[in-house]
Amino acid sequence: MDFGYTPEQEAFRNQVRAWLEANQPPPLTPEEKARLTEDLLWERAKAWHAKLYEGGWAGISWPKEYGGRGASLIEQVIFSQELARLNLPVGINVLGIIMTGPAIMQWGSAEQKARYLNKILKAEEIWCEGLSEPGAGSDLAAIQTRAELVGDHFVVNGQKIWTTHAHRAHFCQLFVRTDFQAPKHRGLSCLLVDMKTPGVTVRPLRQITGEAEFNEIFFEDARVPRANLLGPLNGGWQVLISTLMHERVGIGETLGTSQQTLGELVELAKAMDYLGRPAIENSAIRQQLAQFAIEAAAKKYNGLRSLTSRLKGLPPGPEASISKLVSTELTQRMVKFATHLLGQYALIEQHSPLAPSGAWLLRILGCESLTIAGGTTAVQKNMIGERVLQLPKG
Ligand SMILES: Cc1cc2nc3c(=O)[nH]c(=O)nc-3n(C[C@H](O)[C@H](O)[C@H](O)COP(=O)(O)OP(=O)(O)OC[C@H]3O[C@@H](n4cnc5c(N)ncnc54)[C@H](O)[C@@H]3O)c2cc1C
Repeated sequence: MDFGYTPEQEAFRNQVRAWLEANQPPPLTPEEKARLTEDLLWERAKAWHAKLYEGGWAGISWPKEYGGRGASLIEQVIFSQELARLNLPVGINVLGIIMTGPAIMQWGSAEQKARYLNKILKAEEIWCEGLSEPGAGSDLAAIQTRAELVGDHFVVNGQKIWTTHAHRAHFCQLFVRTDFQAPKHRGLSCLLVDMKTPGVTVRPLRQITGEAEFNEIFFEDARVPRANLLGPLNGGWQVLISTLMHERVGIGETLGTSQQTLGELVELAKAMDYLGRPAIENSAIRQQLAQFAIEAAAKKYNGLRSLTSRLKGLPPGPEASISKLVSTELTQRMVKFATHLLGQYALIEQHSPLAPSGAWLLRILGCESLTIAGGTTAVQKNMIGERVLQLPKG
């Protein structure tokens, strides 16, 4: 494993750093903070995305022929590290950029590539991912939403749930059952569905954070043109597996994130009092921060092992499976530890003038979802047990 960066890579880092520092969104004004709504945050994120796109930094791993930068793996990592260093978001349409776009590149016709890809990258058209259903989450092969081919159209009936940003989306990458007799993995197909299609209804689901960023989608005789089939008819399981693989690669190794959260906790410990003294002077708190530092470092080096394998063109090994499991649980413990430091301030919503910076309440309530989204911890442990450790099926 080589921990160093080449002079070219360091030059790239300097270029990214200079651009981000010069172009990063301004902090929220007190007026914006006081009337903070999801719509306002979305508009800010949209403006940031437009800037990233103009600068050539939106979806930097996308090939140049589709409007991307064609960045190498190591450049993507450097870019993620620099974003994390300034605590900046990646932009909007993340699911379109990391999941649907690469799936269209892999499975789409020339017409589909020309029609959809650049608008995804520019975030002119927002996409959502229609996989989970009330009876099909961890077990996606159990998908029940039906699409019957009638002439030139699929007629879709059924329900999806937990669909992130469906209320903002123009299109949905939808997985449906098209063969009702075949074994469950063989009867699925993938459709590109215009969310304005009659018969498509979106109902937002409000979460404990107060946000409603995911939704239920209902389909009642929604007619989707046959031309919007992505990949082979009844070959949707392969499209689904590759879409999820693109998701994992896209989320990638955010090597900086735990270090970032640790840095925030250290700053909080310096700023807050604990039992009448600065919290940073309390030995139990110092001990816990040191423990987080050890785990964050272990996570970082595990990420570097994974990166080294991928740079050598090797398939992701056990270290990649461990990464999601460890990083989501570590983030949950770190974010929840902030409550010890913040005391009653942890309960103040971020639009209050008294709220500590860092949107801690939102993060404390929201972090529970990390060990569910993109595959639960239990399912992840099954995968590690069976595929990595070769243990017998439970
Ligand atoms: C923030 C967030 C965003 C999301 N966004 C989307 C989205 O955009 N599109 C989309 O389609 N879905 C989305 N999801 C849904 C997500 O993919 C599912 O919640 C997840 O896959 C789990 O499925 P489930 O909720 O149906 O739980 P279930 O699969 O019903 O699991 C329930 C419990 O049983 C356990 N369990 C299940 N199977 C096993 C097993 N074989 N062995 C051991 N334990 C098991 C699970 O670990 C869990 O504790 C999102 C979820 C979250 C939290």
